[in-house]
Amino acid sequence: MAATSTFTTTGCSRHKGHREFTIQFQRPRIPNAERLLLEYFESAVAGGEVFEAGHTIGLGGHDLRLIDRPDGTFGVEEPVPAPTEQWVESVDRTVREVTFQRWICESVGQPVTFPPRNGDCLVAACVQNAEALVLSRVEVPAEVPQLSGWMVSCPAKHDHGERSALPLLALSAIRPFTVQFLALPVGTVVVVVPPGKAHVFVDGEQVTPTPGSYLEGLNARS
Ligand SMILES: [Zn+2]
Repeated sequence: MAATSTFTTTGCSRHKGHREFTIQFQRPRIPNAERLLLEYFESAVAGGEVFEAGHTIGLGGHDLRLIDRPDGTFGVEEPVPAPTEQWVESVDRTVREVTFQRWICESVGQPVTFPPRNGDCLVAACVQNAEALVLSRVEVPAEVPQLSGWMVSCPAKHDHGERSALPLLALSAIRPFTVQFLALPVGTVVVVVPPGKAHVFVDGEQVTPTPGSYLEGLNARS
């Protein structure tokens, strides 16, 4: 198992002695990925926010929870995609997902539009046995804030049948490759072709990824 790496904020204590934050990565990480969270906490505290252990905070569509660490700083936990609720002191998955979601949006020139916290998607039953997938994001009524607007089906031209709500966290567990597309805005359709290609359509038109972008690289590799 790779050694964990930890990073601690330094700018919080000068704001009314607010405690600093320690973030911990379990596995090899994206270079400089820790900046995302360190800067988030430092700027929130500089803006007057006061955090307590047990607080849940949203980062993109993700939930993080603060804990007390023996060293007096706040630790940060993330939920593990699992049938039962389980949290670990780690930010690997959250940071990875947010970073990749940003890279995908940049690749196709779309604004980063994170799904709602604890959001759901609607999944057709045919997805279970499908290799390729079609993800489409539609407008959702304001009365159902937990709906992200993402619909997941197979690419066949048939009646996809009943759709059921699935937490995005569960989608992350069963189809991890799809998660990076979930910050694309309403009007986007993504066709995911195994082992690791994806074609993005915006308002019905296929978008060619920007030369040198993350998505271009992904499609060239697989
Ligand atoms: Zn289907």
